[in-house]
Amino acid sequence: MRSHLQCRSRTLTVVRQAYRFALDPNNRQRGRLASHAGGARYAYNLGLQWLRTSLHDNRNGTDAPLPGAFEMHRRWNGWKKDPANGVTWWSDNSKCVYQEAFIDLERAAKIFFASRSGRRRGPAVGFPRFKRKGRSRDHFRLTGLIRVGPNWVQLPKLGKLRLSESPTKLIRRIDDGSARITSVSVSREAQRWFVSFRVECKRLVAASRTSDVVGLDVGISALVTLSNGLVFAPPAALRPTLARLRRLSKAHSRKKKQSRNRRRSAQKLARCHARIAHLRRDYLHKLSTCLAKSHGQIVIEDLNVRAMLRNHRLARSIADASWGELASMLEYKCRWYGATLTRANQFFASSKTCSTCGYRKEVLALAERTFSCKKCGTVLDRDLNAAINLAHWPEVAGSASETKNACREYVRPGRRQAGLDEAGTEQPISASGSEPTARSGGLQRRSE
Ligand SMILES: [Zn+2]
Repeated sequence: MRSHLQCRSRTLTVVRQAYRFALDPNNRQRGRLASHAGGARYAYNLGLQWLRTSLHDNRNGTDAPLPGAFEMHRRWNGWKKDPANGVTWWSDNSKCVYQEAFIDLERAAKIFFASRSGRRRGPAVGFPRFKRKGRSRDHFRLTGLIRVGPNWVQLPKLGKLRLSESPTKLIRRIDDGSARITSVSVSREAQRWFVSFRVECKRLVAASRTSDVVGLDVGISALVTLSNGLVFAPPAALRPTLARLRRLSKAHSRKKKQSRNRRRSAQKLARCHARIAHLRRDYLHKLSTCLAKSHGQIVIEDLNVRAMLRNHRLARSIADASWGELASMLEYKCRWYGATLTRANQFFASSKTCSTCGYRKEVLALAERTFSCKKCGTVLDRDLNAAINLAHWPEVAGSASETKNACREYVRPGRRQAGLDEAGTEQPISASGSEPTARSGGLQRRSE
């Protein structure tokens, strides 16, 4: 595979990527980290207060511009020195912390306004909310002089902090001049601190290819099934951890509110959740790299992830979360390694259609693990059948846009015909996919 990759033409491109490592701070450093996170939270809330005041004033007739990150930082410089405000601790933390918090707030406000005016696609985004200690994620960002060593990182104001693992790859890239750290983001996850380096990397990006198509289906029992028959089970460590999670959350729900025991069990529960997320993410990273390197075109379902997340069953919701994460990893890794990522239409009934003859079932319960076709007698694993259908998708979508009726096997003929005739032009399959019958096919994952 490697030689195959190397003989293809590749161009040097600057990509932005992150390297994330666990920190191993001592007790004093833990306090300092918490102080920085607290400073960021304070600045964010203060800026939000200013923003709300300006909006309120504007509603009452004034027409002053809303404060942006720059203006907030200017006001902060006056605010912090005024004894009346009681911000005696400001100099304990790096000044970047406040600056970056204002930048975060400005971005959040911009996203809200863009969403409200319809300039931003996707679900509506709410107005930024105040962050509360213990409720919001402890997080801050630093810029400036950042250095990394074999087992440490040096940050402005915080000094040298030990890392739990060695950032070998990052150091190698910095040493050979192919990477530059632009900022560093520090966050806490269930009592553990992490540092994430934002890096501008020069990477050799391969020219994209579309040969060697593979369909990819994400499920519960098998995390990923490929159309070529390869199956990737969830990481082995996940199962006992999930069992532990179930036990811990039950125990937690029985603890008395506001009690010390409840607080302790909440921490245990958070650690367990974090471990599951880490196990899964690690596995997905390895998997997505392997997939993007070894295939020319990967076809995945373009599912309505938000709708799927409404299902509260544990295994299901974990599979759904994996799907979203895997899709976004594949998105950029395919670009790096020159593969093409294709999203099959959300309403493409990959699970209900027979991959051999194209016959489509009306209903398919989630419990049915095998697909058996009434028309041609094919019996296949459910996920494999779906993956094979996805592998066919580029042909289906491609031929639909070129020739009429080329793919009537995949959509009910009558409906599809109607869709094309109505529009009067040749359309990709997505046009007919919005019909009610096709929609019910797309929603199969939700109805269990
Ligand atoms: Zn069939």
